[in-house]
Order: sequence, then C-alpha cells, then structure tokens
Amino acid sequence: MAKVRKVIIAGGGASGLCAAIAAAREGASVTVIEKTDICGRKLSMTGNGRCNLTNMDMSYEDFNESAKGRMKKFLNRFGVSRTMDFFESLGLIMTDEAGYVYPISGQATSVVNILMKECERLQVSFCYNEQVKKITPDGKDGSIHFTVKTTKAEHEADRVILAMGGLAGPKTCMATGDGYYICESLGMKKKETFPALTALISEDETLPKNKGVRMMATVSFMIGEGVFATEYGEVQITGTGISGIPVMQASGIVAEHLAKNRPVTVSINFFPEHDDAEFEKMVTRMLSLPGERRLGDLLEGFCNSEINEMVLKRMKMSGSMKLKNVGDSMLRCILEKYRDIRIDISGVSDYKKAQVTRGGISLGDIDDDCQSINVPGVFVVGELCDVDGRCGGYNLQWAWCSGYLAGEAAGCL
Ligand SMILES: Cc1cc2nc3c(=O)[nH]c(=O)nc-3n(C[C@H](O)[C@H](O)[C@H](O)COP(=O)(O)OP(=O)(O)OC[C@H]3O[C@@H](n4cnc5c(N)ncnc54)[C@H](O)[C@@H]3O)c2cc1C
Repeated sequence: MAKVRKVIIAGGGASGLCAAIAAAREGASVTVIEKTDICGRKLSMTGNGRCNLTNMDMSYEDFNESAKGRMKKFLNRFGVSRTMDFFESLGLIMTDEAGYVYPISGQATSVVNILMKECERLQVSFCYNEQVKKITPDGKDGSIHFTVKTTKAEHEADRVILAMGGLAGPKTCMATGDGYYICESLGMKKKETFPALTALISEDETLPKNKGVRMMATVSFMIGEGVFATEYGEVQITGTGISGIPVMQASGIVAEHLAKNRPVTVSINFFPEHDDAEFEKMVTRMLSLPGERRLGDLLEGFCNSEINEMVLKRMKMSGSMKLKNVGDSMLRCILEKYRDIRIDISGVSDYKKAQVTRGGISLGDIDDDCQSINVPGVFVVGELCDVDGRCGGYNLQWAWCSGYLAGEAAGCL
C-alpha cells in the first residue's frame, strides 16, 4: 500500500486552513491543531466583518521593504487569479468593489465556513483547545519526521506547517506570537516585530477633544523635513491622535522609525485637490467677501469647525477677532495652515488595535515553498513571516499564497 504523508498544521487561521486544503488535495492525511475552540476567529472579523480577501491591484510593491524582493516570485506563483480560482473552486462568489474583493454574501463567516466545509470534504482532522508547544525533528537515517508536542499529546508528523499568526488583533483572537519561539527553537531568525495597520498616538494639546473629525486629506509622514511616505484618504483626528486608512498604511514604518528614536511628524493637507493656483484663487475670493466679518465667520465656510478651532489654538488667535484687525497677510498665513497641519507622533497603538504584525520570521530562512532551509519538512506561513502588506486585501493574499504553496509542497509525496 502506498504510504500516506502525515501533515500537521499548527494554527487554524486563514493560512492554516488554506494549507490544510492544499495538502489534503495532494492526498496527505492532514491534522490541524488549533489552540482555541474554533478555527478562523480572526478571519471572521476581517474587513469589518465582510472579509476583503484580496485586491485586483496587487503588486510586490505593496508589501514591506524586506519582503518586496521575494513577494514578486511568491505572487507570480500564487497571485490574485489563483486566489480567485481557489475560492471559486469552493463555490464562493466574489464581488470586486473598485479592486477590493469581498465575498458577495458580505459576510466574512461565509469564507470561514466554505474553507471548513472543504476541509470536512477532504477529511481533514481537527484538534481544538490544544496548543502546539514544541517541534522535535527526529527522522532516522536522513528521513524527515517530527514529534509535535502539544498541551494535550505528542503527535507524529512527516511534515509540519507553522501557521500560528503573529501578535496583532483584538484579545479574542488570542494572537500571542507562539510561532516565533517555536521557529527560533528550530534555528530560524525573527525580525523585530511592531504593530502595523493601526492608529498613531500624539500628545498634541491642540487636537480636537470631542468625538473627533473625519475628513479627506493627504497625509505626509516626515522625519524632520524629509518625507518618507505620503497617503491620501479619509483621516480621523481625535484627542489622542490620528487614524483612518492613510494613517494605518504608514503605521508600520512609523513604528520602526520611532523604535529607532527618530522623531516622526505628520503634515496634513485638507485641500489636496487644490493646486497652488486654485488655492490662491479660493483664498483671494474669501478675503474679498463683502461685509464686516469676524475671523470665525470666515473660517466657518472654509473647513470643519473642529479643525478651525485647532488652527486658531495653534495660532493663538480668537475667532471673535474682526477681520480688518487681522490683516490680509496674517489671514493668508492662517488659511495656508490648512495645507500643512503638523502633528508630532509619540507612538503607535498597541497590537490589540493593529490588523497585522510587521516583522517576524525572516524570509531568508524559508524557500519558495515557505519551507525552512535549515529544517526541511517544516514550513512557515502567514502573518508569522516577516511579510506585511497594505490595508485592502494584501495580508490575506499573503495568507492564501503562503498557505497554499506550503500545503501543496508538504502534501505531495
Ligand atoms: C480586525 C482585523 C481586520 C482585518 N481585515 C483584513 C482584511 O479585510 N483583509 C486582509 O487582507 N487582512 C485583514 N486583516 C489581517 C488578516 O486577518 C491576517 O493577515 C490573517 O488573518 C493572518 O492569517 P494567519 O493564518 O497567518 O494568522 P491567524 O488568522 O491569526 O491564525 C493563527 C491561528 O493560529 C492559532 N494558534 C496560535 N498559536 C497556536 C499554537 N501554539 N498552537 C495551535 N494554534 C495556535 C490561533 O488561535 C489562530 O487560530 C485583518 C486583521 C484584523 C485584526
């Protein structure tokens, strides 16, 4: 009788379930060991409960600097079209909203359920409430074999896929970074980790104290006067800092700079759609409006009242001042501030509020199938790796890509 390869997958999240399906499709006997009582908990929270599972506009450039080089090859092997084919093969109908791909059901739980259904069809076994603690390579005479020690048992395996995620996500996700020490115990290197796709904290006392402001803006991220990232989108400013998609996109790199004691400042432009000439025309028109007016009256029609208050506080001026006493050049100076509101950043929000972990197991330690170079037979996938992408389906794309490639390689004899 032909030997069946035994594959153990540590972690039943997005990458682990995908790996389980790929390995089982290759004919392997697959067991997923999950430390909680359910698989896909984090997956079911993604995309505000809708699961933005990939993005039609996907390039290796959308990933962290240290991963870009390798991502080109990974995405060539398992990119957006293979991801869509994979989900279509499971019967998931998807919809593309300006490039952002969601299940048409609008429910992330549909994605979890169809993955679980396919696992069931392929007779994948599941062990719940069991935490993987140690992997011991114990193959004899050059063969590959492992003992997987958990909180409940010792399992035998021919191949092991580590899909334990990182540190990001609400407490209920139980993201405790177990995979890092297991990989390190097998000789793999871990790059320093940071919370990414999260909000930025500021001690600035002029920030709006009430419920905050949401506005479209361009945000430039700077060290001194040097801009290292620029993003456009809806920014949210509250009493504790700034958030919103454009802020989240740069938060990983901001975290890295702050950890190196490089002071980061953001510059927000609330009039990104006006070039210099258009802005000047608008300012001239505002200044030539008829009637006795006060500074507050002028700003009322110019921008959001909370932003107006913030600008006046910074300029140490009162909205009750008569315009004629302010003078044209000072008025211009005030209005110009709306194109360059500077906020010093003191930190990034913690892992509980982050969507993904920056850093992790170095891609230099794994091959193109995500297999450990030092310990053949062990695969490392998903958020556990030093890969993080932009917000918008990029991180799940990595989970599907790494999970499937590893599952296929681990499962085939
Ligand atoms: C709120 C939120 C929204 C998001 N939205 C999106 C989105 O719309 N699009 C997108 O692309 N990305 C999104 N992400 C990111 C995405 O969820 C992750 O990139 C993805 O879930 C990573 O998959 P993973 O399989 O590597 O890890 P996880 O999904 O975290 O799965 C890891 C699994 O391993 C288990 N585990 C951990 N340690 C052990 C152990 N020792 N033994 C056994 N099991 C263990 C965990 O319990 C968990 O089930 C979002 C993240 C969050 C927090």
